[in-house]
Amino acid sequence: MRFDIISVLPDLLTSPFAHSILLRAQKKGVAEIVVHNLRDYATNKQKSVDDYPYGGGSGMIMSIEPFALCIEKLKSERDYDEVIFMSPDGETLNQTIANQLSTLKNVIILCGHYKGIDQRIRDIFVTREISIGDYVLSGGELPAAVVVDAVVRLIPGVLNDETSALSDSFQGELLDAPNYTRPADWRGHTVPDILLSGHQAKINEWRHDEALKRTQERRPDLLE
Ligand code: SAH
Repeated sequence: MRFDIISVLPDLLTSPFAHSILLRAQKKGVAEIVVHNLRDYATNKQKSVDDYPYGGGSGMIMSIEPFALCIEKLKSERDYDEVIFMSPDGETLNQTIANQLSTLKNVIILCGHYKGIDQRIRDIFVTREISIGDYVLSGGELPAAVVVDAVVRLIPGVLNDETSALSDSFQGELLDAPNYTRPADWRGHTVPDILLSGHQAKINEWRHDEALKRTQERRPDLLE
């Protein structure tokens, strides 16, 4: 799967993709993540990518031309399944959306800044708008990194233990069960005996019961 992320602050996207599972996915060739500096597509001398809003008001608006040039260049090189705009008024990201996106091949992600982007970019180029939650951040880079992380870990071959994503919260209707590792006794706080029993069927049953209990307590809406 290939992601082309268009950003005015590409440095913000260096570290999130340079470690751990996301790095491994790229090394394995399962995911390709390319960040494009929007300023490279600015057409004026000042290399500006924003301008004052028509109708007045506070905040700058990102202009259509640099985004258009970058998107058109990418589209001339390959076909894209989606052009996603990260936006607080988009559909809220959840595991279902992450699963859907993980089946795609090529995706462009646009990161907004300032007051937002010219509506015509959304009307003409964008096929899907995604929010990471009901709060406003300064830019679309962190949201884009969240989307890429949530999606890439679902691509087959990325996680070492293929089943480990399946038992994660939200992958089924249940939240994850409590997890423990050594030591079995930390200052008198012990691990549930069942996990030390070696009896896998009983352990699975315990995990399912705990996951159900946790879901009932914290997210009863998932069980409805
Ligand atoms: N005026 C806009 C907010 C602009 S914030 C509004 O009220 O909707 C600047 C940019 O940050 C946005 O264009 C978007 O790309 C990104 N952004 C901010 N909050 C976000 C969120 N919750 N989810 C996804 N992207 C977000």
